[in-house]
Formats: sequence, C-alpha cells, structure tokens
Amino acid sequence: MYDDNNSHEGYPRDNHRVGRIEVICGSMFSGKTEELLRRLRRAQFAKQQVEIFKPSIDTRYSPEEVVSHDKNTILSTPVEHSSNILLLSSGAEVVGIDEAQFFDGGLVEVCVQLADQGARVIVAGLDMDFKRNPFGPIPGLCAVADDVTKVHAICVECGRLANYSHRLVDNDKQVMLGETEEYRPLCRKCFLRALSKKQP
Ligand code: ZN
Repeated sequence: MYDDNNSHEGYPRDNHRVGRIEVICGSMFSGKTEELLRRLRRAQFAKQQVEIFKPSIDTRYSPEEVVSHDKNTILSTPVEHSSNILLLSSGAEVVGIDEAQFFDGGLVEVCVQLADQGARVIVAGLDMDFKRNPFGPIPGLCAVADDVTKVHAICVECGRLANYSHRLVDNDKQVMLGETEEYRPLCRKCFLRALSKKQP
C-alpha cells in the first residue's frame, strides 16, 4: 500500500518553498480523485492556500466542483486551456488538477513552471484510454513528476488488481465522457479475453 507520509509530511512552509509535482494516475474506479481530495483536504486543514482546477470538458456532474464517484466534493475552477491555470493560481501554495488527461499538452510545462515557482502541484488523471494507449499529457507529467502514484481498481471479473478501463459500448472516440455503466475495470487477462470476444 502506498504511503505518502514520509515524502510529503515534511513539506516546508517557509518563504523559500521548494515546489514539487505529484501525479496520481490509474484506470477508472481506481480512486484517483479520492486520493487527490485526501491530499488537498490535508493541505487545506493545514491552512495552506489551495487552488483546484479541472478541464471544462468534464462537466459530468457539476461545473464547479471536483466530484468523485462517492460524492466527496471540493470546489474547483473549470478551465478551457492549461495556460489558464498559470493565470488563476498565482499565490497558491498547493495546486490540484483533476481529470488531467483531458487537458492539452501544454499542461506539462504549466506544472513545471508552477513547481519552479514553489508550488506543490498534485495532478490526477487516467493513465490509459480504453485502448490502453497513454492518455493526453499524463505520460509527460509522469516524466517530469517528483513522485508518481499508480492506483488500481479491482477487476470485476476475477478480483485481481485492474489496470484497464474496458469500454462496453461500441464507440471508437478516445474521449467519451462516460457514466460508470459504460466502463468496467479489468486486469490484463480479463481485458485480453474481452478484447478477443469483441473481434470477429
Ligand atoms: Zn481479471
């Protein structure tokens, strides 16, 4: 089980803050947003100034809140382009970004700049799309991150740890904002079996 206490608890709160980038990635139903919220709440509790952003494309539940599937909510700002984050987060000690896979590629440079300016940047997103391809800016973010946490769902077929978000409906578009019933978390073995059933 991942424990971030050792690496983050000593985060300094002086005027010479050293920034960092943390990435939380995994499949759907892996608890990415819950882990992001846990870290952000802890920072808020410590009276650190926290700003939270999400892409305006992700309006599944609410335009102004980061909402995880268990309805744990926290207020966030929807933005259209990654450059908006730089403009809107001046003075923030901690910057949270949810659903980062939907952002443009400029997000990588934005996170580096924020960290260089002393911010703790915490980014959550899907590591792979439904075809197992690396998703949007997430691989680049993993490369520049100080710390990467890969979280897992549980395979609904066999109970192993699941890496993949299997899409149930026939739609080839990479971005399809799905409700939970359109995806199932599967392990490698069950994902390959599902794939072979799909092909004629
Ligand atoms: Zn399985």
